[in-house]
Amino acid sequence: MRFTSTRGGAGAAHFADAMLRGLAPDGGLYMPDDWPAWSARDFAEVRGAPYVDTAAKVVATLTGNAFPPAELQRMVEGAYGAFRHACVAPLVQVDDNLFVLELFHGPTLAFKDVAMRLLARMIDHTLTAGGERATIAGATSGDTGSAAIDAFGGLDRIDLFTLFPLGRVSEVQRRQMTTPRFTNSWAMAVEGTFDDCQALVKAMLGHADFRDRTRLLAVNSINWGRIAAQAVYYVTAAAALCGFARPVSFAVPTGNFGDVFAGYAAKRLGVPIDRLIVATNRNDILARTLETGAYEVRQVVPTSSPSMDIQVSSNFERLLFDASGRDARFVRDAMTRLSTEGRFVLPDPVLAAIRAEFDAFAADEPATDREMARVRRDSGYLADPHTATALAAARRRLAEAPGTPVIVLATAAPAKFPDAVEAATGIRPALPAHLADLHARDERMDVLPNRLDKVEAYILDRGRMARAGRAGEHD
Ligand SMILES: *Cc1c(COP(=O)(O)O)cnc(C)c1O
Repeated sequence: MRFTSTRGGAGAAHFADAMLRGLAPDGGLYMPDDWPAWSARDFAEVRGAPYVDTAAKVVATLTGNAFPPAELQRMVEGAYGAFRHACVAPLVQVDDNLFVLELFHGPTLAFKDVAMRLLARMIDHTLTAGGERATIAGATSGDTGSAAIDAFGGLDRIDLFTLFPLGRVSEVQRRQMTTPRFTNSWAMAVEGTFDDCQALVKAMLGHADFRDRTRLLAVNSINWGRIAAQAVYYVTAAAALCGFARPVSFAVPTGNFGDVFAGYAAKRLGVPIDRLIVATNRNDILARTLETGAYEVRQVVPTSSPSMDIQVSSNFERLLFDASGRDARFVRDAMTRLSTEGRFVLPDPVLAAIRAEFDAFAADEPATDREMARVRRDSGYLADPHTATALAAARRRLAEAPGTPVIVLATAAPAKFPDAVEAATGIRPALPAHLADLHARDERMDVLPNRLDKVEAYILDRGRMARAGRAGEHD
């Protein structure tokens, strides 16, 4: 299996290159050149298997067998051994035909751990094999940063720089980024917004001289390695609930469309998935697109589910590619229009292809609060605001089609958003034991202006890659 760009302007790449590049050289996203599909025998093999064994098999398939099997098994065991639940991603029933798939039992309490912990091991393995080092710069609105620090912290071949907007992440999120003690990780509070942080990272990746000197990588949600790791829990959940014997639907709290696209990849593999339900908060670009066919960027409004406060859903480009019959020219034109006019319109056949597999529902703030209160009152279940948007979407789907079970992806633990949960339910969830003293730990971070030259100088000063390069110049 090779990977090709959604924009058609880059050569085919092996998984390792697609993973280390993140974005394809033509600005597109990497997709497998052909969707791999499992046989009945493959599915029989993972029915009832431990999470790690299923993970090894799914990831082997979706990376084109990029790693020796024993190595991959070691990597998944390392990635998921640290989860606080023996099932890694347990399934909980909360109502008739309504289930919650808990993806937040990793170290940083959000589902980003699932993919990031495995991606870190795959990158480390690849760099080690090539005798290379790399620098990672990541922009985060909260959850990705702490997951990356947990996953890449302490790795010898990587230096990690995490940019977050000063004063615009929750206290729990900030402390999760500023209190870990790793000699290869720096928390950078930027005087700006999340969009400013993301623009700085993009600018560094586009600055060839800086990028080459630091061997800069991006590990954001467009990285195929993350999609491959996230497809796993769609397989384990469908196996656990119905043993692949009848279809299930999934409702997914959505921001960059990475998580729900992993569900689409699992469906292509052959998992019997009926509907993929995109749940959004008030930032409802995807719900509007499925309703009207026009993909139109509006102002981002802050909500109680900040990890979904996104307007441009990067991974949607992958779906456009597939839904248009892999028409790279169409994708290129749509993306050009998006950057010049802020919108594009889906042709009818493309919209029909998307509607054949996806539904989308938006939950505003009152609806999200009502759902947190309802699921607590009716089922005794405490959900975080991100999960609540998907619970609300799932109930809308069940009202129309009560016969097919819906699995809601719980993407964050309620303790990560205690204020919103308490406001809606009256219950203040406590942090788990390993984070109980989070508020007493010393913080370490540097405040930087929103300036590319300052940010680059900071990284060059501290990163081992750049320092090794400089030392070399003096020899
Ligand atoms: C990142 C995140 C999401 C959105 O996931 P995407 O892959 O960007 O769609 C949803 N919920 C939480 C808690 C997250 O951290």
